[in-house]
Amino acid sequence: MPESIDAILQISQQDRVLSTNQKRLNTIPEKKKKLRVPVKKVEIHLDQLKEKEEEIYGKIRERETLVDVENEKIKKSDEKMLSVKNQKEYLASQKEIDIAKKTIKKVEDQILELEGEKEKLSEELASVLDEYRHEKDIMTEKEKDVLEEEKTLLETIDQCNKSKDEVISLVDPTIYSEYEVLVSRKVIPAAVAISSSNCMGCAMAIPAQLFNEIMRDSSGKCPHCGRLLFYKAPEKPKEQPKKKTKPKKTAKSKS
Ligand SMILES: [Zn+2]
Repeated sequence: MPESIDAILQISQQDRVLSTNQKRLNTIPEKKKKLRVPVKKVEIHLDQLKEKEEEIYGKIRERETLVDVENEKIKKSDEKMLSVKNQKEYLASQKEIDIAKKTIKKVEDQILELEGEKEKLSEELASVLDEYRHEKDIMTEKEKDVLEEEKTLLETIDQCNKSKDEVISLVDPTIYSEYEVLVSRKVIPAAVAISSSNCMGCAMAIPAQLFNEIMRDSSGKCPHCGRLLFYKAPEKPKEQPKKKTKPKKTAKSKS
């Protein structure tokens, strides 16, 4: 097989590998995104709990301020009582103190209740935080695999491009431009070797006369899919498999 044909077939083979690897590479971002879903879910739950906790803290602080205000009122009323002029003023101050004390009692009960809620919430938060760490560990572990896969795909793609570069200069430019048109139309592999009257790309039968022409000219095009076809003499069946380890060479030397 001439060097140029061998080269375009090699390129075609590399492009096929490239295409498969590129398709797999394109799925990587989605895979990464999917891996983050369970962590994201727990994260949302965690945020909700933290928000709730903050809300309770706020309520407690509000009530503590209220207690301070009421205590201040009591202090003032106590001071006032030292200088009351009559029974009426005394009773009024006493009433103020009673009201303030009642308010404090009510508010302190609320604080106790809120503290209880806060404690329950803290427990829940701790358990969800554990869950979060656990999910994150799982994600990191799975991510390693995806990153490894991505690395392998990128390496293969790089290798394919290098292999193509090595032989690209050997290909006839006219054939190569026809080849590129096919590749741009996603006809991959765009160049195939055939030994019988079937296209190795689309698997359709090639008319006898056309196949004869391809045999004669060594190359042609599939009338169905447009692929570049190159004739390759069928390999002879191995007679002594033990001795003939490289049947390819046998076929070459006999043609
Ligand atoms: Zn075809």
